[in-house]
Amino acid sequence: MYSARLDQLPPYPFARIDELKEEKEKQGVDLIDLGIGDPDLPTPPHIIDALCAAARDPANHHYPSYVGMSRFRTSVASWYRDRFQVSLDPENEVISLMGSKDGIAHIPEAFVDPGDYVLVPDPGYPVYRTSTLFAEGRIHIMPLRATHDFLPCLDDIPSPILRSAKLMFLNYPNNPTAAIAPREFFQEVVDFATDHEIVVVHDNAYSEVTFDGYHAPSFLESHGAKEVGVEMHSLSKTYNMTGWRIGMACGNAEILAGLKKVKTNVDSGVFNAVQIAASVALTGPQECVRKSSEIYEKRRNTLVQGLTEMGIECMIPKATFYLWVPVKNGLDFATRLLDEAGVVVTPGIGFGSCGRAYVRFAITRSLERIEQAIDRIRRVI
Ligand SMILES: *Cc1c(COP(=O)(O)O)cnc(C)c1O
Repeated sequence: MYSARLDQLPPYPFARIDELKEEKEKQGVDLIDLGIGDPDLPTPPHIIDALCAAARDPANHHYPSYVGMSRFRTSVASWYRDRFQVSLDPENEVISLMGSKDGIAHIPEAFVDPGDYVLVPDPGYPVYRTSTLFAEGRIHIMPLRATHDFLPCLDDIPSPILRSAKLMFLNYPNNPTAAIAPREFFQEVVDFATDHEIVVVHDNAYSEVTFDGYHAPSFLESHGAKEVGVEMHSLSKTYNMTGWRIGMACGNAEILAGLKKVKTNVDSGVFNAVQIAASVALTGPQECVRKSSEIYEKRRNTLVQGLTEMGIECMIPKATFYLWVPVKNGLDFATRLLDEAGVVVTPGIGFGSCGRAYVRFAITRSLERIEQAIDRIRRVI
């Protein structure tokens, strides 16, 4: 009944865990869910106020523009200038997205012909793979390993693959490994992509969720990046706006024009009131962003310390709200934690086969719940 395209999607890896979770909930077990990549913190009030006011204006009730309101695109450009010292022309170097997932899901359709390769990090955000498969591209896995700081080894990509590689997905600060990329790595990527004529799509969803004084760069800061790539960004994680569905694609105008052509045929843009509220978020006070990171930083410290005291060693992340924890078998470990401790974590295999021996903890729950989770894990470990 289904298309070959649907049939070739990788099997859903969490069926067993989901079943067990449902069973536990039915039994009335109080689960502590550290599996969710969605902030528990609310959207700051000044952004909500802006949405409410804009929603009452009938001028905003019509179809939005495909690429985004001029006000939104200008706000994105000014945010990129202030935050990264990257200059973008709001006219043709910024387009609005219904969340960055929208851009990631549709960009292969603009550049990938059947059989072309897409370079995809493993572990990685699952949409890089599925969007490649929907475009009938072939996936070439770039393994991310602890021994190489979870950065892909570009030199390991075989030349026959490179000859038909069209697109490369990257994501730093990284979900699920919480790794960060040094600026030198981005420069290496730009040079590599220039040599091999590969479109780089950098997913920067976590640039503002950072700790210990670390500031994540934009890929577009690298010399020549705007010639080869685009950056997908989003208000989801920065302003706790995952449900609002707004993000932006920025960078090379020609690449963006391709994405725009696809999107013009599949959606009709982002609700103007949401774009106006997003503009207020980007150009208003940024104190709320720092506050969210401070909250995550405290939770990170508590969870890292708790795990370390139990003999579970993990990297202390400088960014993202995840801990990527090496274990013997991620699926077994997550199942046991759920079954015996009522704590939900995500098995690394869900992000690709290189994640097999890991689980991902999301610190998107209160400090109290995280402390409770540590107590429970300690008792079963
Ligand atoms: C959350 C997330 C996104 C998508 O967020 P949107 O809500 O669609 O903007 C993209 N990439 C990664 C790696 C994420 O974790």
